[in-house]
Amino acid sequence: MVPGMVLSFEDARKVVENHAAGIAPRGSETVDLLDAVGRMLAEKIHADRDFPPFPRATRDGYAVRSSDLATLPATLNTIGEIKAGEKLVKTPVAVGPGQTVGIMTGAPVPTGADAVVMIEYTSRRGERIEIARGVVAGENIVARGAEAREGGVLLNRGLRFNDAAIALAASVGKARVEVFQKPRVAILSTGDELVGLEELPGPTEIRNSNTYSLAAQVKAAGGEPVLLSIAPDERARLLELIQDGLQADLLVLTGGVSMGRYDLVEQVLAEMRAEFFFTGAKIQPGRPVVFGRVSCGAGTPFDKLRAGFAREGTSVPLPVKYFFGLPGNPVSTMVTFEIFARPMLQALAGMTPQKLKFVHAKLKSEIRVKTGLKRFLPAILSGEFEDSAVELVPWQGSGDIAATARANCYIVVPPDRERIAAGEFVPVMMRH
Ligand code: AMP
Ligand code: MG
Repeated sequence: MVPGMVLSFEDARKVVENHAAGIAPRGSETVDLLDAVGRMLAEKIHADRDFPPFPRATRDGYAVRSSDLATLPATLNTIGEIKAGEKLVKTPVAVGPGQTVGIMTGAPVPTGADAVVMIEYTSRRGERIEIARGVVAGENIVARGAEAREGGVLLNRGLRFNDAAIALAASVGKARVEVFQKPRVAILSTGDELVGLEELPGPTEIRNSNTYSLAAQVKAAGGEPVLLSIAPDERARLLELIQDGLQADLLVLTGGVSMGRYDLVEQVLAEMRAEFFFTGAKIQPGRPVVFGRVSCGAGTPFDKLRAGFAREGTSVPLPVKYFFGLPGNPVSTMVTFEIFARPMLQALAGMTPQKLKFVHAKLKSEIRVKTGLKRFLPAILSGEFEDSAVELVPWQGSGDIAATARANCYIVVPPDRERIAAGEFVPVMMRH
């Protein structure tokens, strides 16, 4: 029996974060820019010139010398028009005292001018422009290099590509970018009652759904799921499948970590001389969650394991593989992956460490729970802006996938709260 190490949520998170900090990602590969969406950047991306490369007008209007507008209305002489993309090199323009130039959003502001007056505040009579409003120097202009200087770092290693990062990479002409290879995450569901998707379950059997929810979470977190066969609650076969799973970069097991007679996962891992960092967390759902690692150093009696490490190659300096034993109840599996396994996976994927992301929302109806556990309860956040509010989804406990599928977030209840009144603001963890 593995001695129980039940930590608070915060301590368990810290343990995971500390181990994650020591992990090296796999190697990198170069992909087309659009294939980098959701991937982690493995190189630094620099500004290839000043951003913006010229003083950029941010409004349609007239480029002026702000001092010319000291008394209003002012009348200036227009000497031309500059549109976006105008090549000033060929036809240099300079705005002298009493002069102005029509200018469009995105066009370079000519020398002499130090501000742009919006078209709305002007009226034109032939070449004479009457201006009704003053401007301060710099108004409606982004100075050359104000957003970034040539050679400066725009995107750092470890960043996950989103739309803005893709835009930035495109703006410096990166058609291809270097990203980290996706970590492979083996998923092993355990339980005699489980059957595969393609099978018809008997009266007391259920279909394996955890493998699929986990695979979806792994994909969303930037990993490559490796689906193993279902492990029965039987020592030898479980051991075999765990060994297969340890050939991936991370092993995630579900089921078989509670106190039942056939909960063999910890036992088999202990036989493999696994190190356990915790075997429970004071949370609900997900209390029996297990985190540990198996070392494959000298003297490890598992030849297959060693052969696996040799074949795969790994950038983890020690031949050590981390594993999570997640509780089998489907909602527990999803929650514990989210709060504990995700940081590990992100580290393997080369991503800079992330905190869990929370928002605060107004509670629609009262919550009553028992104290002692930090709870992550499926909930629905609805409404927009100041009307948004959150409420629990009625559920039958941590086996209720139907209720959880209706939820779009989890309300987090701290362990010392027995009752939260309607109208209070509560922390909400969004689902990915
Ligand atoms: P366990 O953690 O093995 O005690 O399982 C707890 C509950 O989750 C039981 O009702 C199991 O039938 C169910 N369960 C375990 N693994 C899975 C799975 N892969 N898919 C769906 N339900 C599961
Ligand atoms: Mg089981």
